[in-house]
Amino acid sequence: MVRHQIMVIARVALDCPVNSLFDYRTTGTLPSVGQLVVVPFGSRRQVGLVLEIAEHSEIATARLRNVESILPVEALPVDMLALIRFSSEYYQCPIGQAAFVALPAALRRVRYAGPAPQWQYVLTNAGMAVAVDEFPARATVKRRLFEALRLSPALRRADLLAISASAITLMESWVRVGWVEKRAEIFPHGKVDFTTNAQHDLTDEQRTAVDSISAGFGSFSPWLLEGITGSGKTEIYFRLIEQAAGHGAQTLLMVPEINLTPQLEERFRGRFPDLRLVSLHSNLAEGERCTNWLAASSGLAQVVIGTRLSIFTPLPQLGLIIVDEEQDASFKQQDGLRYSARDLAIFCARQRQVPVVLGSATPSLETYHNARSRRFGHLHLSRRPAANRASIKLVDVRGMAKAQSLSDPVLQAIGACHARGEQSLIFLNRRGFAPVFVCGACGWNAGCSRCSARLVWHLGDALLRCHYCGHEERLPRACPCCGNQDLKGLGQGTQRLEQLLGERFPDARVLRIDRDSTRRKLAWHIMQDDIRQERVDILVGTQMLAKGHDFPKLTLVVVVNPDGALYSADFRAGERLFQQLMQVAGRAGRADLPGEVLVQTQFPEHPLYQALLRQDYRSFAEELLDERRRAVFPPFVYQALLRAESQSESTLMDFLAFAASHGALGRGAVTLYDPVPATIAKIAGHHRGHLLAQSASRAELQRFLSEWRPLLVERKAGRVRWSLDVDPIDL
Ligand code: ADP
Ligand code: ZN
Ligand code: ZN
Repeated sequence: MVRHQIMVIARVALDCPVNSLFDYRTTGTLPSVGQLVVVPFGSRRQVGLVLEIAEHSEIATARLRNVESILPVEALPVDMLALIRFSSEYYQCPIGQAAFVALPAALRRVRYAGPAPQWQYVLTNAGMAVAVDEFPARATVKRRLFEALRLSPALRRADLLAISASAITLMESWVRVGWVEKRAEIFPHGKVDFTTNAQHDLTDEQRTAVDSISAGFGSFSPWLLEGITGSGKTEIYFRLIEQAAGHGAQTLLMVPEINLTPQLEERFRGRFPDLRLVSLHSNLAEGERCTNWLAASSGLAQVVIGTRLSIFTPLPQLGLIIVDEEQDASFKQQDGLRYSARDLAIFCARQRQVPVVLGSATPSLETYHNARSRRFGHLHLSRRPAANRASIKLVDVRGMAKAQSLSDPVLQAIGACHARGEQSLIFLNRRGFAPVFVCGACGWNAGCSRCSARLVWHLGDALLRCHYCGHEERLPRACPCCGNQDLKGLGQGTQRLEQLLGERFPDARVLRIDRDSTRRKLAWHIMQDDIRQERVDILVGTQMLAKGHDFPKLTLVVVVNPDGALYSADFRAGERLFQQLMQVAGRAGRADLPGEVLVQTQFPEHPLYQALLRQDYRSFAEELLDERRRAVFPPFVYQALLRAESQSESTLMDFLAFAASHGALGRGAVTLYDPVPATIAKIAGHHRGHLLAQSASRAELQRFLSEWRPLLVERKAGRVRWSLDVDPIDL
């Protein structure tokens, strides 16, 4: 008689590009579905996620290897596993890779150390009584450290190290004299801040919004909350979160940018000092992210503020999801698992039966369309309760000399603003000194040898730099083609504007804010403080400045020549430009000072600018939607993009041609377009191209992709790297 040995097989997702689970034998304690286990994989060991438990395996028993150990953390709950599976299928990404996007790095280590204690330093009352001026002026580190302590409710090790390598020693000495307290806490206590956080009586519109949304607690209800900057959306979030927390429910609040989380975090803590709040974003140290993730997944944290990755946080008591600035491109991950956190938020809300609020001044057309067709509820805030709406004016620069970058009316407005003691912001979405570096004699211009892109002239270190691959070279003294020494930069970058404004307004303090000037950690933090403390008069910056930052003395915003987007090949360019302009406009006049926005343009009659003048996003959105319906673009059709790149152009085109030859799989319901080179056809020596698949039916497109992808995987494509991007947001 044959005796069957009962065997339990753990089917495990591993972080590798193969879209299947791996079978392991279990011994000793049985892992359960959702647990993290350490398993041998090839010659190494890896952490895997158990997704299924089975009694049989297709693999011969003798070849099966054993689960080595189980990580001492709670199993992921079923809803999180369902989210991982859904993301993997929908975004056509191997299951193991999808699973590991969801996990903080500390949980992917074979040697799991548990959450590290997170020391935080907080000023004591005795410390509070110390004045910065008691430090000698030379003691810059001490002063900066002290300022930092006063500014934020608690400083962590990473914050300290970013200020100075000696900061920790200094801090320990302050702990000894009793100025500073050292705590090992997950939830730092807020400093109650009544000045900016007073409890307001809600306006009627706000009240309607809060009541409508909260009436849906406990069931799936998606909402578009439409309202310009300053119209009181955050106030609504506060009320909803307060109510949710009152019922013991957790809220997930997603924001577009890491830089915005500390500001919002402080505002929250100021309003609700006892609220258990954690943040989750990729700038956190590994231990801290793990601690926060565990606080959220144990149900201890009542609020999670995070960037897109926070959608993958297990929240056992989830009661509400809020996506602020839902139109923001940063909610879409651009590699690996190319998910849209906004779309997954809606998936989660349905799965968990909770309301989801999408907040925006200028909703994405996808969301706007959903609201118009009543798939989403639509709430509107039409006024700014605490400030006037900024006025927007166009400055026609058709007659202006080419070399002049700021028009006379703009210069006058900046001067007047400065004379009133207020701040202005000059917005130009281009870093560096000049975007083009040319020879006046023969027309040569500096291009990157590895990319199909021009090199940008950067002042200071006198370099030409490629903004695509990072390549840098010394500024040539003479033209490499004709030897001419008269080389010059054309066009405007933020550095050039900074220089020009400095010359033009010698007594004004000009500050440039872009990725170059804020590279050092905390640099941006310190600059923001400088702006709030009015140590700056004129700000020059890129889109970094457009998002969310609130500076009370800022009353004038100038947008320099945003026209390029009007004639872009990308059908989303117009939508983006309007969104961005409204966002920058929102920076002007938030407090009791009226704001003004000047847009310098060559095309003042363009319908986009005309709608902007009226600050009428809706009519513009309606127009765009009509255009998209006629041209059959999203949201009236669904798209997926096959992106590929290779060092060999012919290998690339062969691969794309192979991919294109499978159009029949779509059974007529899916259209495959011809392969085309990407907008930047070469980056860092890699030729890039893509192929668009489109269908009026999401389900048909999904079915096509799931049959197409294996064929692409199987084809030994030579040296081609490729990926599928479902619902791409740029082509
Ligand atoms: P948003 O998030 O839409 O930009 P906020 O919620 O931050 O707007 O509100 C903008 C400003 O208006 C804040 O200073 C806030 O304190 C204030 N505010 C919000 N709601 C009210 C209200 N009902 N009455 C008075 N002031 C309000
Ligand atoms: Zn030349
Ligand atoms: Zn380059």
